[in-house]
Amino acid sequence: MQIYLDNAATTKMSKTAISVMLPYMDAIYGNPSSLHSAGQAAAEALADARERIAKCLGCTANEITFTSGGSEADNQAILSAAKIGARKGKKHIVSTAFEHHAVLHTLEKLKNEGFEITLLDVHENGLILPEQVEQAIREDTCLVTVMYVNNEIGTIQPIKEIGEICRAKGVIFHTDAVQAAGHLHINVQEQNIDMLSLSAHKFHGPKGIGALYVRKGIPLTSLIEGGAQERGKRAGTENIPAIMGMAAALEEACDHIDENAVKIAALRDKLIMGLVEIPHSVLNGDGSQRLPGNVNFCFEGIEGESLLLLLDDKGICASSGSACTSGSLDPSHVLLAIGRVHDIAHGSLRLSLSEENTEEEIEYTIKSVKEVVGYLRNISPIWRDLVNGKKDFIIK
Ligand SMILES: *Cc1c(COP(=O)(O)O)cnc(C)c1O
Repeated sequence: MQIYLDNAATTKMSKTAISVMLPYMDAIYGNPSSLHSAGQAAAEALADARERIAKCLGCTANEITFTSGGSEADNQAILSAAKIGARKGKKHIVSTAFEHHAVLHTLEKLKNEGFEITLLDVHENGLILPEQVEQAIREDTCLVTVMYVNNEIGTIQPIKEIGEICRAKGVIFHTDAVQAAGHLHINVQEQNIDMLSLSAHKFHGPKGIGALYVRKGIPLTSLIEGGAQERGKRAGTENIPAIMGMAAALEEACDHIDENAVKIAALRDKLIMGLVEIPHSVLNGDGSQRLPGNVNFCFEGIEGESLLLLLDDKGICASSGSACTSGSLDPSHVLLAIGRVHDIAHGSLRLSLSEENTEEEIEYTIKSVKEVVGYLRNISPIWRDLVNGKKDFIIK
């Protein structure tokens, strides 16, 4: 038995996406740049996929650029906005302390090139307030980049309001919507979004494919030089099977957003209700402004890695923070950003659900987490000190 509760790291491909892709690895294998009929069949498929993805986001097809995934889309969006800014002598960027590393490391690179970066503090509930963005914007600000949904704690940011502020101040607004696309309703027009990144493997599509929406009139800088694919903004023969799989997965996800959200949120709430019963535990991130499938807890006196390994022995796939940081001993920058101290941040557990999970799985997971936390605390010298009053509990 395997219970998969790590959908924020990646999702299982949908049957629809797989079946849509197969013909493009078989009969329809042409290169869309070729002039013959085999190439034109691929070119038509590409145009169709672009159109359908644009429709899901509320933009036009020529505002969509295909990338290798969320990381590349984030890099390209930020570096493009920075280039536009630099030309006008505007070298200040506003972002947040709990962005994905695809954003933070790109900003770090720009900082070394002379940009000034303001990383907004995140409130303890995992939210950024529009006023914070408003106060941080300066005359020389060229970009605001704030993630739509945080990948660790699932909090949903006030994107429309932030977009409104940026629009009024004439600053480009990018959002990393990798955790939001296919899970929440997105309309880039209504939400005043200038640039948006998404990635197929976070909504039951294939890995290695993503898209960047860029509002008409904002020039993109290409990161990869070569042929004239993607209107000269992203060289390389298009990955047609993956693009077709992404379009099918996004449409399927968007067609079922509401019913999936109701189902998944009910499972999430059951899981949260079960886990808060564990003494000296705390839910990370706001209880209501939260992605339907995200559960993230800290348990005092616990080491996250041991928790994960023991849960894996019980057939449960979970995560402690982001997949990129697991394996390193640094605590999650997201949990530190919401004010968790090092010791507490180390004892974190992320369980991210999908519509395929069942009530039975959630019940088994609650029981297993309780057992494993109890077991680890029993053998922990730190826990003994806490219980004997030699150390004070941080989580009451
Ligand atoms: C997964 C993820 C990314 C990276 O996407 P890839 O397609 O894996 O490169 C970026 N941002 C967020 C918020 C993510 O969850």
